[in-house]
Amino acid sequence: MARYTGPVCKLCRREGKKLFLKGERCYTGKCSIDRRAYAPGQHGQSRKKASEYGIQLRAKQQARRYYGIPEGQFYKYFLMAESRQGVTGENLLRICESRLDNIVYQLGWANSRADARQLVVHGHFQVNGKKVDIPSYLTRVGEVVSIRDKSKDSAKIKEVLEANASRPVPAWLDKNADACEAKIVKMPEREEIAVPVEEHLIVEFYSK
Ligand code: SF4
Repeated sequence: MARYTGPVCKLCRREGKKLFLKGERCYTGKCSIDRRAYAPGQHGQSRKKASEYGIQLRAKQQARRYYGIPEGQFYKYFLMAESRQGVTGENLLRICESRLDNIVYQLGWANSRADARQLVVHGHFQVNGKKVDIPSYLTRVGEVVSIRDKSKDSAKIKEVLEANASRPVPAWLDKNADACEAKIVKMPEREEIAVPVEEHLIVEFYSK
């Protein structure tokens, strides 16, 4: 399925919750969901009570949209999560968190996950010293993600570093701001993952 390229605030309004897809704007009074807290479209203000299936479907869609992951890839992550030891839903979220585009966003090297995806594709980052331009690259514990030397002088990179300098970085990432690099020290615990969904609903959705 093609990647959604329409207005992202509509996605939040469709899901009825903030998915934080627009960076700083999401934390200001300009957030669309604060101003129009109903679904988009002609019948948006007459939401029907969701069925059990509908609730599970929405949870899956929310997580997918939060991370910006296409359906096919998200399902592959589910299968991968299921084959690992531990709680499947938590495994699934950990896999999503370990994507390179998410790591770049969490480190404050991009304004949003969509912005991070584009910067990765443009080849601004490396993993363990090697250029990686695949947003879905799954990082592993011990790997070091950094901004490439030649990208440190890019106007866009300078702008995002300045804009996000004070954004807190999760404890599972050991960031060295001066060196523009960070080590993945562990995978996050569930309480360290901010995605606003109940992941067991996603597992129930795919387990039908
Ligand atoms: Fe969602 Fe952010 Fe738009 Fe608010 S501003 S509706 S949180 S993308």
